[in-house]
Order: sequence, then C-alpha cells, then structure tokens
Amino acid sequence: MPDIIALRPEPSWQDSLTDLITDPDELFQLLQLKTSELPYSTAALQDFPLRVPRPYAARMQTGDPRDPLLLQVLPDLHEMLAYPGYSKDPVGERHSNPLPGLLHKYQGRALLVLTGNCAIHCRYCFRRHFPYADNRPARHEWQQSLDYLAGDRDIHEVILSGGDPLAIPDRHLAWMLEQLAALPQIRRIRIHTRLPIMIPARINTTLCALLQKPKARVSLVLHCNHARELDADVAAACARLQSAGVTLLNQSVLLKGINDNLAALRTLSEELFSLGVLPYYLHLLDKVQGSAHFDVSETTALALLAQLRACLPGYLVPRLAREIAGEPGKTVLA
Ligand SMILES: *Cc1c(COP(=O)(O)O)cnc(C)c1O
Ligand code: SF4
Repeated sequence: MPDIIALRPEPSWQDSLTDLITDPDELFQLLQLKTSELPYSTAALQDFPLRVPRPYAARMQTGDPRDPLLLQVLPDLHEMLAYPGYSKDPVGERHSNPLPGLLHKYQGRALLVLTGNCAIHCRYCFRRHFPYADNRPARHEWQQSLDYLAGDRDIHEVILSGGDPLAIPDRHLAWMLEQLAALPQIRRIRIHTRLPIMIPARINTTLCALLQKPKARVSLVLHCNHARELDADVAAACARLQSAGVTLLNQSVLLKGINDNLAALRTLSEELFSLGVLPYYLHLLDKVQGSAHFDVSETTALALLAQLRACLPGYLVPRLAREIAGEPGKTVLA
C-alpha cells in the first residue's frame, strides 16, 4: 500500500485575513519570547488592537526581541505616554475630506478610502485615529464621490487607499474599477497596499485579471519597511502583478530601531529592485499620538539619505518626504 500523504491545503487569502494573530501571548509564544524581554504594554491594545497576519509573523526571527518585523506591530508601553507635538490627526486629513471616502488634497490626484480594514496594525500608522466609521460609504453613497470625480476634469489619477484597498472582495474592487473606467480623464489608477507583503496569496488570478483590464495605467505602491519582509511568496506575488502590467513602487516609513541605518535602507532598495520594485518615498514619521518611540530626526534622516545616495544608483534612492498639515503637497526634503 502506498503511503498516504495528507496535504494541508494552502489557506485562501480570505482565510488568512480572518485568521489573524490578535492575541499578544500567542505571538510571543510563537516567537519564544517572554513579555519581560519586551517593552510591551496591554494598555496600548485598547486604543489600537494587535493584528498580525500569519504569513508575515512567519518571517519574524524567533527569540529576537528586536526583530524589525515584530517591532512594527508590538504594542509598546511608550504609546501610552503623551509627547508634545504628537496629535490624533497629524496630517490634517479631516479638512480635505469633502465627501465620505474621498480625500482631495493634491492637484490632479484624488484618493478614495475603500475600507478602514487592514491586514496588519502598524503601530506607527498615521491613520490609527482616523474616523473610519464615518468613511465607509455604502455602494450607493460612492456615487457622490464618483460624481465629484466626474465633475473635476483636472483629476487624472485616482489613488485607491484605506486602510488597505485590497482587503475588500474582488467583486467590490471590480465594481469600483468599472466606475472609474467610465471616466475618460482618469489616466492613472494607483493602489497603496501592504497586502502583497502581508498575505501574498491575495495576488490571485482573479485580482490580476481585474488589474489588467483598465485602459488607465495601474501602479501599485507596496509598503515595505525592511528587506526581511520580502520572501519567495512575496517575490512570486510581485511577478504575478508585473505579468498583469502593473508598475510596482514602494514606500517606507523611516522608523527608529527598524530601518534607521544605512545597511537596512541599502539592502531594502536592492532587494526590492531584485523583485522589480522601485523605491518611491521614504517618509518621515507622521507625528501621530502613540508613535513617538519610532521618531528619527530630520537631521539623521538627511544624513542617511546622503549616505544612501553615495552607494546606490539614483533610481534606487527614495525621495525623503514629510507630510506637513496645511501644505498643498508632501514636502520633499531630499
Ligand atoms: C500622499 C497622498 C497623495 C499622493 O501623493 P503623491 O506625491 O502623488 O504620491 C494623494 N492624496 C493624499 C491624501 C495623500 O496623502
Ligand atoms: S497597513 Fe497602512 S493603513 Fe494599515 S495600519 Fe499599516 S500603515 Fe496603517
């Protein structure tokens, strides 16, 4: 009799998005870490719960309390301290929110918040206090935003954002892309997402077929902060997106203790490019309440960028940018 090998089927992306690690004890056990080794606080969870996708957690190093992937999701006791200059709406988004789900802040580009849902909760997230509950329009309410887009002939690019816009079902995304296809002035569609990194299985055939369809050029901005976030599954997801004709870019946030050194930034650019992804922005932290422990000073950031420019070709050096509330665009510092 031949041996029967029980093959466990790969979980679907929907399963992975539901079956997240939300219990810190489970995460610490998985990583063989004791809470006494970590600057961990349960109090931080009340404000912003733990959410970690399993494929992402699998890339964390066991036994390392300073793991750069872990630090991005760790509810840290410093989140509970008040720091001057840190607020709940650091980029002033609430003032450029003309309709539920629509942000129109920059010339030529409008941003649609498709969902408040994310696969992961990044502790430094500038939207951690955003009133998503007021910004999740039902399908008929989207009509207002689509009318707004149709009425402004100067908007040539629509940015699908969130939360994570790829957290919504394919049929919703298909509907939105169809609506945008009806607006001939929209020449570019850009998707800002962490899902190809968090749950690479999200980039399935159905999605790739959807992204291949529009006449508008589709780009996708990954949000990868450290080269260790990239593995063979992420590489395969990037390859599928490229086969669908999607241009791949990356934005990172400069984070203390995670990527604030030359080696980390250099390796990140190089590894991204090996997957066909070009670095776009390196953001200075938005001063959102609870994120002060990640802050890197502008002086340090500028010095790092100069070092990076010295050792990499220009196309592998991201633009260092900062969001200043009230300014008409992102402020590019270098
Ligand atoms: C960042 C951002 C954009 C896009 O800016 P680019 O410089 O084109 O990448 C558009 N709208 C909002 C609200 C943004 O925060
Ligand atoms: S994926 Fe983006 S929007 Fe979601 S928590 Fe992380 S930084 Fe915030």
